[in-house]
Amino acid sequence: MAGRTLTIGALAIQGDFLEHRLALERLGVHAPEVRLPAELDDVDGLIIPGGESTTIVQLIDIYGFRAALTEKVRAGLPVWGTCAGMIVMADSLTDRRPEPLHLMDIDVSRNAFGRQIDSFEEDLEIDGLDEAPFRGVFIRAPVVNRAGELVKAIARLRDGRPVAVRQGRMLATAFHPELTDDDRVHGLFKSMVEESLRPLP
Ligand code: GLN
Repeated sequence: MAGRTLTIGALAIQGDFLEHRLALERLGVHAPEVRLPAELDDVDGLIIPGGESTTIVQLIDIYGFRAALTEKVRAGLPVWGTCAGMIVMADSLTDRRPEPLHLMDIDVSRNAFGRQIDSFEEDLEIDGLDEAPFRGVFIRAPVVNRAGELVKAIARLRDGRPVAVRQGRMLATAFHPELTDDDRVHGLFKSMVEESLRPLP
């Protein structure tokens, strides 16, 4: 990848991919919109945005992303899902729909916070981020019910439930860092992508 700007794509079929692109650009990352499976060849990492997971998965299948994305992620492409993106990446869901991509060893409940508080904010301590807490913006957010052995919870709600998880080069957050002006989680993902490009010693 020498000589080329770090490139992190945003899956741009539904949801708030624009906000992710803007955050990445603030960090000096080239952030194209990924609309077709072949465009996965041109990125060093991928963000699956928040939105409506049933719609995103439907379009993933219509555009033929399921096999291409699974293959790329198995081959080591770093990927980060926010909110609906976390649902898309899960191994299984409490809901019957959608059929997730089974990328990460987590079981997830959609809309886990009931109607009254289906949107809320909470300060989070996130492993790997220094100093101040990170303001988590939760909008009809999912929660992780089960995380496999290889999955590390890097942030939890006050009640202990994990809302940010990592597994190798995969990251999933139940909240929306792209809707704040705090770019530290984008910075964390950027460093995961940089790490993946480093040649082995
Ligand atoms: N509740 C949405 C879903 O199930 C996710 C909401 C979001 O991405 N903010 O897909």
